[in-house]
Amino acid sequence: MVDEQLNSGLRAVRMAGRLIRFVQQELTLLDSFSKSDRSPVTIADFLSQALICRILHQDFPDIPIVAEEDSRELKRDENRPILGRIISFIGNNEALSGTIDEDNFFESIDLGAGSPSQLYWTLDPIDGTKGFLRGEQFAVALGLIRDGEVILGILGCPNLILENQNGREGYLFYAVKGKGTEIQDLNGVPSERVSASSKTNPKEMRFVESYVSEHSDTRLQNRIADILKIKRPPLQMDSQVKYGLVASGNAEIYLRIPNPRTPDYKEKIWDHAAGSLIVEESGGVVTDIYGKKLDFSQGKTLKKNSGILATIPVIQCEILDIINRLKSGWKTEGEAD
Ligand code: AMP
Ligand code: MG
Repeated sequence: MVDEQLNSGLRAVRMAGRLIRFVQQELTLLDSFSKSDRSPVTIADFLSQALICRILHQDFPDIPIVAEEDSRELKRDENRPILGRIISFIGNNEALSGTIDEDNFFESIDLGAGSPSQLYWTLDPIDGTKGFLRGEQFAVALGLIRDGEVILGILGCPNLILENQNGREGYLFYAVKGKGTEIQDLNGVPSERVSASSKTNPKEMRFVESYVSEHSDTRLQNRIADILKIKRPPLQMDSQVKYGLVASGNAEIYLRIPNPRTPDYKEKIWDHAAGSLIVEESGGVVTDIYGKKLDFSQGKTLKKNSGILATIPVIQCEILDIINRLKSGWKTEGEAD
């Protein structure tokens, strides 16, 4: 059964990845605005969500989609120029025929307003919008969740360049639970297995964290890298591309310790569903920072978890142990203030 969802999801994410890359080249300062939570959204986020939701809905009308964006703010009068730009992109792109059009655009975006249920898709049409706006890394992330478990993950990384993949540009990772992780380019060829790193010496390992420092506790993360005597500075990168680096052996430790300045922030399912399965199926391990399995049965957030550790089995316990020690020391220091 998952084969059909995989084929449809691959087609949708590849099409969206190519469309976004094209839009990125044409992007102007007027093509984005800030949402009410002050995070940016661009014409590409809406195009990607509409296109992927439309394809998934055509193929599987009964599977709800839980996606990040909705059409409310785009419908406001002040955003009419942005809508105009979107319509002109759709009108000039033959590859989209039979999918999104001017008449079904809002409805297509809002196909992503589904609720978590026994079986559902979760979509981040552009994860890492800030990276996308800088012309750097972002991901198109699609997960399929059944009974609270991610059973399929597809992660398009249109701007990623990997040295161990002959320097080709633009990748897509995918994983079906129990079947390993594959990598291909955005045109779908060639597909090959990837494996998490086999390094055993922590000093040689590569640490990866968010580019946006407010999204994690970089001070504590630096201390952990120091304790492990990791030689190279951390790679700082937006989006779930970080999971792709761990899954393909290009990094060994992706750590996301909650930033103490935003203690109430809860991770969203669409920010981790695809990436976490891709790492697990490559031989890596993913938990929260206390070693707890990510719990995708709690609605739209991972409210029973705190932060993320995606790494390789050989170092996982040591990192969890260091976090545990530093966290308790850090709390005591904080309480003494
Ligand atoms: P990254 O580039 O890995 O930091 O991931 C980008 C994602 O971080 C966005 O999609 C947001 O959903 C999420 N985000 C926003 N605010 C926070 C926060 N305070 N802590 C952790 N993640 C956040
Ligand atoms: Mg996101």
